[in-house]
Amino acid sequence: MRIALALTAALLLALPMSAAAQNTTLADASAALGATSLKSLEYSGSGVLFQAGQSASPGQPWPRFNAKSYTRAVNYETASLRDDVVRTQGQNPPRGGGVQPVRGEQRQLFLLSGDHAWNLVADAAVPAPIALAERRWQLWTTPHGVVRAALANNATVQGRVVSFTLPGRVTVRAILNDQNLVERVEGAIPNPVLGDMPVEVTYADYKDFGGVKFPTRIRQSAGGFPVLDLSVTDVKPNAAVDVQTPDSVRATTNVYGRVATQMVADGVWYLTGGSHHSVVIEMKDHLIVVEGPLNDERALAVTAEARTLAPGKPIRYVIASHHHFDHSGGLRAFAAEGATVVAHDSTRAFLEGTLAAPATLAPDHMAKSPRKPVVEGVRDRRVLTDGARSVEIHHIAGNAHADGLLMVYLPKEKLLSEADVFTPPPANTPPAMPPSPFTLNLTDNLKRLNLAVDRLLPLHGRLVPIADLHTAVGHGH
Ligand SMILES: [Zn+2]
Repeated sequence: MRIALALTAALLLALPMSAAAQNTTLADASAALGATSLKSLEYSGSGVLFQAGQSASPGQPWPRFNAKSYTRAVNYETASLRDDVVRTQGQNPPRGGGVQPVRGEQRQLFLLSGDHAWNLVADAAVPAPIALAERRWQLWTTPHGVVRAALANNATVQGRVVSFTLPGRVTVRAILNDQNLVERVEGAIPNPVLGDMPVEVTYADYKDFGGVKFPTRIRQSAGGFPVLDLSVTDVKPNAAVDVQTPDSVRATTNVYGRVATQMVADGVWYLTGGSHHSVVIEMKDHLIVVEGPLNDERALAVTAEARTLAPGKPIRYVIASHHHFDHSGGLRAFAAEGATVVAHDSTRAFLEGTLAAPATLAPDHMAKSPRKPVVEGVRDRRVLTDGARSVEIHHIAGNAHADGLLMVYLPKEKLLSEADVFTPPPANTPPAMPPSPFTLNLTDNLKRLNLAVDRLLPLHGRLVPIADLHTAVGHGH
């Protein structure tokens, strides 16, 4: 209440402040936090985390995981960050995305250095430019990072509110408490699905760690739902933090724009080359694309490739397997190109909202387009046909990965495309046992619908014969 009153007073007295007054506020915060000679920091703890963009249904909270351990190392001098997280399954039975179920303990390493973001997966550096804005936000909204970034980015100070914009157009508003400690940071970062995505961090229960004040409770939200609730147990001011961008990451450009095309039947192409795939289907006078994943860069590479495969035929439909952000991040670009989005009824209203959402921080293809997006719903089944070819869209009923999951079946070609419920393991690798409940549910649906499938075009992984699915669920299932 006292803070709310102080904020209101600050807003009422929103007079322009002199540079000297700004410097005083930031100097006071720096002194209170012990930030003046702090070059790097490592903190660790445990708690719960949630995977943004991976809810089982639109409008529900992000799925929860346990953070058995969580260590963040930051180096403010080199603008770098390393998150080392060991997570375990949070909800049983599993519900939603984020690569559930997690079996046992899973370690995740997320890195940032300057303009590069990447992950370490089994010791291999995997470029992740899609995460750059979010990681910058993470680095510069740490309590000490806020003070440094405010000074470096010409922050405006009004009362206890410090506002600035980070490179990459991330907006930051930090609120100091009456001890000049950073209490809350709110802002927005560009997101391929939500446009300007609201983000927030709160810091509480500050303690002294060798002359440096640091919160022992950190809570974060993104897109309106919690993403982190962390209890901090250990803080090491000026810990050695050496994060170097690997040469392979530095050398990789066009991460989402690489498309490898394989013709799998007459007029049917499997577009791979990255982490998320699409399928292009040629109809008499138009094209249908299954899946618009990731972001503008991916979507525009896929639409460009589709045009070279069937010159002169417009993309009339893009079928969205489900609303998870990694699978729907390209839909805005498809809609801007004039494609009608076909999605499950339960995600239709959500997508109508996201396709029309403002993207002012980093205006994307849709933000610059005069087109009004169109979404059509599917409940159980819909068939798109031109008289010669049929494209069947089926609901994968009762699948806890996502309530509104769709799969696409070509009856004549006996091809099936699905996302996230069966991803074939690498060749010559046995499938995980026991099978995922999501995969078991897929086979139940194929039986229920009596679909005769020869080959699978999974939207992750690789083209496989249907026998691989049978192997994955155990023979005889
Ligand atoms: Zn998913």
